[in-house]
Amino acid sequence: MGQKISQALAFINNAETLDEKVLDACLKEICTALLQADVNAKLVFGLRTNVKIRANNADKGAGLNKRKIVEKAVADEVTSILDSGVDEKKLTDLKKGQPNVIMFVGLQGAGKTTTCTKYGAYYKKKGFKPALVCADTFRAGAFDQLKQNATKMGIPFFGSYSETDPAVIAQQGVEKFRAAKHDLIIVDTSGRHKQEEALFEEMRQVATNVQPSLVIFVMDGSIGQAAFDQAKAFKDAVEVGAVIMTKMDGHAKGGGALSAVAATKSPIIFIGTGEHMDEFERFEAKAFVGRLLGRGDWRGFVDKIQEVVPEEAKNEELMEIMQKGSFSMRILYEQFANIQKMGPVGQIMGMIPGLSNAGIKGKENEGGVRIKRFMCMMDSMTTKELDSINPKVWTETSRIMRIARGCGRHPLEVQELIEEYKRIRDLIVGNGKRPGMMKAMGKGG
Ligand code: GDP
Ligand code: MG
Repeated sequence: MGQKISQALAFINNAETLDEKVLDACLKEICTALLQADVNAKLVFGLRTNVKIRANNADKGAGLNKRKIVEKAVADEVTSILDSGVDEKKLTDLKKGQPNVIMFVGLQGAGKTTTCTKYGAYYKKKGFKPALVCADTFRAGAFDQLKQNATKMGIPFFGSYSETDPAVIAQQGVEKFRAAKHDLIIVDTSGRHKQEEALFEEMRQVATNVQPSLVIFVMDGSIGQAAFDQAKAFKDAVEVGAVIMTKMDGHAKGGGALSAVAATKSPIIFIGTGEHMDEFERFEAKAFVGRLLGRGDWRGFVDKIQEVVPEEAKNEELMEIMQKGSFSMRILYEQFANIQKMGPVGQIMGMIPGLSNAGIKGKENEGGVRIKRFMCMMDSMTTKELDSINPKVWTETSRIMRIARGCGRHPLEVQELIEEYKRIRDLIVGNGKRPGMMKAMGKGG
């Protein structure tokens, strides 16, 4: 999705003027990319209108970079959708020594039981005294699952095999742990496969009985366009105050996060990034927006590459060339060829803006296809082009058209490749504004 947006923006950059037609074409591409990333259609429509107004206003001022204006407007719009207006620090900076009662709600399979244990363990590390209450009498084995997780993390738990009323169990559990002076009492509830009235009625009863200080809605990050309605339904039933998105390691494309915030008017406070208890992070809106729009997470990339690439696997010759600052298109070609052979580097490709599909779990193949397509375009470049390190080479429209014709691809795709090349080059050897990775790694430069 990120690459689509960068592509659409690159198109604007090449256009002489930002007239209505160019802007519309670009916005259409951006909106399609957002929809494909599961951003709610209504939100996309609103974003489109706002960006258009801003771009048209800004275009009146001379000398401004049009692409930057649209890029910034899109980023601002996405950021503002993510801004629930609630200070999430107030929700995450819990006070010790008082009984914080946190109730988890969400559909079956969303990840509540897993997440409430992760949440408890997170605060346990911060010195809290957490406890878990299992108020799920719907799912067979729910209590055993919670017991197992809680035991693993050393968190006291409460539940029942005989009591069938979840609101009663919840109340007993909370009372017990209040008396034992626990300052973080987490209530896990049941879910259903569907949003149905019986579930919401049950949630209302549990909430009435335990009087939670915060209700956290847990949502599977990969549910797509269904996110908005689901989040809204829970918000209407109970006072949802915060959101946790799970399975962000899998097929989640990110759009669901925007829907969840918009529908609940609550911030996302954490994300789940795996089945293990430590795969749990604070939600960082800025990094999230950057990734959604294809700007990648640079710092994460540099950290990861140092972790993943073993010393001996680093190509000496390549390192030398990169240190000299001569990262040509041919080097990128060779790297693509290597990636196709190697595993680990492929895994971090997802962090490179524009290559964000490559390497994401279950999408390795998509990334591979993309790399193949890039290599095929590079095959119709001349030797001179491949070896050139003169940035001007890649600004000529006629050249782009020729390469596109040569490989039977759309000029926008060639443009996309060039943008990719530039970004990776800047990332590795640096540019005027930012030191490259070589510097970050303490080598050369
Ligand atoms: P509940 O029905 O809402 O309580 O959901 P569970 O906690 O039982 O989780 C359902 C499934 O999702 C389990 O197999 C979990 O291991 C898995 N799961 C939960 N959170 C994550 C996550 O962040 N990433 C991944 N990959 N799996 C998760
Ligand atoms: Mg559960």
